[in-house]
Formats: sequence, structure tokens, C-alpha cells
Amino acid sequence: MNSYYEQILKEIYHDVQRLKDNGIVAQYIPELASIDPSKFGVHLCTSENENYGVGDHEEKFSIQSIGKVLSLALAFQQKGEDLWDRVGVEPSGNPFNSLWQLEYEHGKPRNPLINSGAIVICDILCSLHKHPHSEFLDFVRKVAGNHSIEYNQTVANSEKKLGFRNAALINMMKASGNIHNEIDEVLNLYYQMCSIEMSCKELASTFLLFANHGKLISSGEQIITSSMAKRINAIMQTCGFYDEAGDFSFKVGLPGKSGIGGGIVAVHPGKYAVAVWSPRLNKKGNSVRGMELLERLTTKTGLSIF
Ligand code: GLU
Repeated sequence: MNSYYEQILKEIYHDVQRLKDNGIVAQYIPELASIDPSKFGVHLCTSENENYGVGDHEEKFSIQSIGKVLSLALAFQQKGEDLWDRVGVEPSGNPFNSLWQLEYEHGKPRNPLINSGAIVICDILCSLHKHPHSEFLDFVRKVAGNHSIEYNQTVANSEKKLGFRNAALINMMKASGNIHNEIDEVLNLYYQMCSIEMSCKELASTFLLFANHGKLISSGEQIITSSMAKRINAIMQTCGFYDEAGDFSFKVGLPGKSGIGGGIVAVHPGKYAVAVWSPRLNKKGNSVRGMELLERLTTKTGLSIF
């Protein structure tokens, strides 16, 4: 056992827990607004598959935008470099559901980790698969090494009912020719992808794929090429935190992705994947405690990718 990580995680978890948690739980998805804001967990999984967790690290939560990395991985695996004809790789510097930039740039989203980009990725998956919902879930389960991973249909439905901005984004892209399937079919997949539930433990072990150059730790199977894993990590580094990606990079120094369910996952290539969950979010939509804890983790260990 690498008690080094265990000791540091315990220490920083308790330090961060003592700080005032002044964010607010995301309100715009009714089903998520009622979550207990005091939930707090962290789990780190090393590339030797050693596991360390503190707090609510085994409790499932809605991974939301973190799922965008997994849909990107599946689409990239299947479509290769052609993917970049439909979606860019530049940080947006804008909120995740921003409309004006998409209009200005003729319906080609800046990157696959903002809503418009993830919706295009879902459109690509709808074109590639006969049963995209089950095939995407099978992919996630395989990477997670866990067949119990599920969508939460109640969360997906709750979001779809009020997802007016996402409807605007997809309609704008359809008008520009960047959506090839039926709007409803693509949005259904998008909302299901966002509704996946995982615990910090499950999330960290799923994201080991990106820490392990695209190979499953369990079987050694190469799921995506090491070049693809490197590129996905680069996109997480520059685009993974809405319009706060620079700040996360500056303070934490790891590729990662956040979701409005309060989760954050970060990857140290060759070393570990770590997931934190705390539902109170800052103004940019990132977990307040999650950001703080990860900053302390890389500061204490002196290990970041820089
Ligand atoms: N399902 C959310 C949306 O489309 C995801 C947002 C997020 O986690 O950033 O608005």
C-alpha cells in the first residue's frame, strides 16, 4: 500500500472540510437541485491499481459533463482524425452553454467538452451506431470494468424538459449543417450521457484509461491509441473547466473535467486518476471544494504535469 497518498488525501480532505463552503448547488436541473450539499468524497486510483478514498467516495452522483470525455473517447476511437472536421480543439473562454460564439463560428463548436461540442459528438455516435444508447453505455462499462454503471432516466427527463439552451444550440447547428440526425434523437443521447451515475471510486478507476495511455489496467487492452489518450488529456487540460480552465491549470496543473453535479476528475499521466465530489459550485460551475482539494493535492505532493 502506498500510504503516502492515503495520508495526504486524509489530511487535505479534513483541512478542506473545515473551510467555509460558499458555493451553491446547481439549480437549473430540478432533479439535481435537491442533493445534500454537504456530500464530500475523494478517491485516488494509481496506475498500479491501488485505491485510496476518503468521505463519500463510494456514493454515486450525476457525472454530467464529465461524461463528455467518455463520449469523445468513443467517437475518436471510431472516427479518428476526421472528428476534427466537425468540432474544434480550442478553449472557448465562454460558459459551457454559450450561444453567441457558435453563431459567430458558423455552427462548428470550439471543442468537444462544451455543450455544443458534446452534442455534435452525440450526433456522430448516432450516425455510427444502430443502438447508440446501449453501445455508449457498454463502452463506459467496459472502460470502468463495471457492469453496474447506469443512466438515470429521471435526471435525463428532468433536464430535457427544461433544456431550452441546448435545444437552441442544436437547432443552430442543424441549420448550419453540422447535425445529421434527428434533433430529438441526438438530444436524448446527450441527456442520457450526462445522466450517468458513478461514485468517485468508479470515476477515478474509469479515468485511469487516460492516465494509462489508452490501455485498460485490468486486461492491458488498448481501447484508444496512446496518441488519442494524449490528445484527450490535452483537451481536458485546456477546455475541461468551462471558462475557468486556465485557473484550474494554473492552480492544479493536471488535465481534468468537471460537471455541474459537483464532480471533478483529474489525471496524472503514468501515475494516477483522482475524483472528487462536492455539490456546491462556484460562479463558473466548478465544485468549490473539489478545486480546493485538488490544488492542495498537487501542491502537497509537488507532482503535476508541469
Ligand atoms: N447536462 C448539463 C447541460 O447540458 C451538463 C452541464 C455540465 O455538467 O457542465 O447543461
